[in-house]
Amino acid sequence: MKIVKTIQEVRNEVKSWRKEGLTVGLVPTMGYLHEGHKSLIDRAVSECDRVVVSDFVNPMQFGPTEDLASYPRDIDADAKLCEAAGANLIFHPEPEEMYKDGFCSFVDMTGLTNALCGLSRPVHFRGVCTVVSKLFNIVQPDKAYFGEKDAQQLAVVKRMVKDLNMPLEIVGCPIIREADGLAKSSRNTYLSEEGRKQAVILSKSIFLGKKMVEDGERDPEKVKKAMRDLIETQPMAKIDYVEIVDNTTMQSIEKIEGEILCAIAVKIGDEARLIDNFILKI
Ligand code: AMP
Repeated sequence: MKIVKTIQEVRNEVKSWRKEGLTVGLVPTMGYLHEGHKSLIDRAVSECDRVVVSDFVNPMQFGPTEDLASYPRDIDADAKLCEAAGANLIFHPEPEEMYKDGFCSFVDMTGLTNALCGLSRPVHFRGVCTVVSKLFNIVQPDKAYFGEKDAQQLAVVKRMVKDLNMPLEIVGCPIIREADGLAKSSRNTYLSEEGRKQAVILSKSIFLGKKMVEDGERDPEKVKKAMRDLIETQPMAKIDYVEIVDNTTMQSIEKIEGEILCAIAVKIGDEARLIDNFILKI
């Protein structure tokens, strides 16, 4: 497995694979890889002849007061995980390689990005869509793998690919959790011992909401209230949002029907802002 830092090196590798008629999968990540990322790489390895993992903390998707500087990084550990999972190439560029002097082109969306995380992180999805588009152009994969953990991101990327006729398939992969239910996240490393204990309230509220819907509740307000009440039992937990939306449009719904996304974002003290969700088809 190779680790490369330049766009030209990625292009050269992919070109040589293409000459042999091999298919290529891409797993975009910000690094500090865990079992959640590994599940995406495993799926890509099982479906594609060659797998590229991009490992890049993308400055463009962080707001000015967010955690760009403190975001955890460990390329050596990432390389070990990728190698063991059977990936073929890690693309680990410096920001200057991705954003050359004078960079001024962006991929911007409306609608889907004006909800949920898009409200509290106004520049986030513009950064995500721009970097993901760049990665698609650099690697030109047959398939790209994204986690349902970031359900809005998955919906946004699927819509962008459809709207802009990008010639690849987007594959969504289920959320991988810790033994106590907390969704795995690179940001979990920000949590203190007490914060980690209280953070389990996110998945508890997700499981509660899911059960209510599975048991027949169709009023989103009742489900959201029960989830909020549960989250608020933890003194460190500050709710950013608890929402139930249509999983394609990300718009609020009045009745639970069709494919719905129930998504939450919760700050644990000043330690971390965490997200979780469930998707159900009714
Ligand atoms: P990140 O490095 O956090 O930007 O995540 C890179 C990719 O891994 C995204 O598509 C995420 O949705 C996915 N991912 C992160 N955590 C998990 C998880 N716990 N389960 C499944 N996928 C995940």
